[in-house]
Amino acid sequence: MTANNKIIKHLFLFVLILAFFGIFYFENQKASGVGKITDAPKAEKEIIADKKKIVKIGDGDTYGILMERAGVGALAADNIYKAAADNYDLAKIRAGRALELIFEKNTDNLKELVYKIDSEKELSVRDKIYFGGTATTSEWTAEVRPINYEVKIVTKEGEVKSSMYAAALENNIDERAIIAFANAFQWTIDFAMDPRAGDKFKFVYEERYLDGEYVMPGKILAGYYINAGKKYEIYYFKETDENAGYFDAEGNSVQKMFLKAPLAFKYISSGFTTGRRYVKAFNVSTGHRAIDYAAKYGTPVRSVGNGTVVFSGWNGPYGYTVKVRHNGTYQTKYSHMSKLAVRRGAKVKQGDVVGYVGSTGFSTGAHLHYEMKKNGVKINPLKEILPPGKPIKKENRDRFFAEIEKWQEYLD
Ligand SMILES: [Zn+2]
Repeated sequence: MTANNKIIKHLFLFVLILAFFGIFYFENQKASGVGKITDAPKAEKEIIADKKKIVKIGDGDTYGILMERAGVGALAADNIYKAAADNYDLAKIRAGRALELIFEKNTDNLKELVYKIDSEKELSVRDKIYFGGTATTSEWTAEVRPINYEVKIVTKEGEVKSSMYAAALENNIDERAIIAFANAFQWTIDFAMDPRAGDKFKFVYEERYLDGEYVMPGKILAGYYINAGKKYEIYYFKETDENAGYFDAEGNSVQKMFLKAPLAFKYISSGFTTGRRYVKAFNVSTGHRAIDYAAKYGTPVRSVGNGTVVFSGWNGPYGYTVKVRHNGTYQTKYSHMSKLAVRRGAKVKQGDVVGYVGSTGFSTGAHLHYEMKKNGVKINPLKEILPPGKPIKKENRDRFFAEIEKWQEYLD
């Protein structure tokens, strides 16, 4: 019995060793490619192209000159130009931007040209090689595609001492990000008149990188601004492909019937200030039933809401003036302008430019005099409570509240 047992044990061990080497052999074969099923021939040859040349576009440079300088043959340059034509006219490349030329590593053949059209889109013209059997054909193929940034999500905050703009700079926040953040509040806060010392703000946004280098801020995703103790929140939400924008924490669009200010934030960024800057508030006791915004000569003045221009011309002591009738209740007036941009009878949309800041009429310096009338009576536009914006559709509300939870964690 003992001998039999021993034989069985040895047999078992032998089988085990065989199995082990068998697997080892098979794995090796796989690694070396022997016995591997050959891939079906691809329609398009994979390009190993990793030599990139960045050709900066200077003043007076043309596409032809740049391609010649980069050592690209005239025929290839011409074929690329023609292939791109339906998507983008390469004669329109702009100074300050660049052509990216990608060459095949082993042959030094030009394989792709990339040109960034704007901050969102780029043109790509690629040499696509097709081969079937023995014949190989090559064709330049163009497309406009979104720029594929690497995105980092960042949170920034600050406390207002003189203005939100100054607070943002103190906290090393990119100027472009603070302008985009303020724009999301353009129906809620007048950053020239409303901010108070001690106001706080915090927001989450995307930073865009290319090849590891910071390029620009991307979307503002969420944020709050606490003005005189009251918290205002914004959340970016894509309700449908056509309808994306900012909503408050209750899911109402932040867009309202009127903008808070007729001047965009970027022109009034130094905010509430006393002293040298000339900003006059609405004041019943002094009889100044309007808001005066200090702004540089030529700053665009925008209509705060949709409406019809009912007056455009010289208005005595008010100088060049535009009046917009928004509906049966509201009318706004913009005065002392240097130039008018609309005619009487024109239909304007919210944000449309109606004129430019000046100092015409009875005025001591460049500023905008802005009035709002409700049922014929001058009112303080900053105090006017407007109905909330459109709410998110019922079927999208669960998705909205689930999505903003994530941002609320960032803001806590
Ligand atoms: Zn005034």
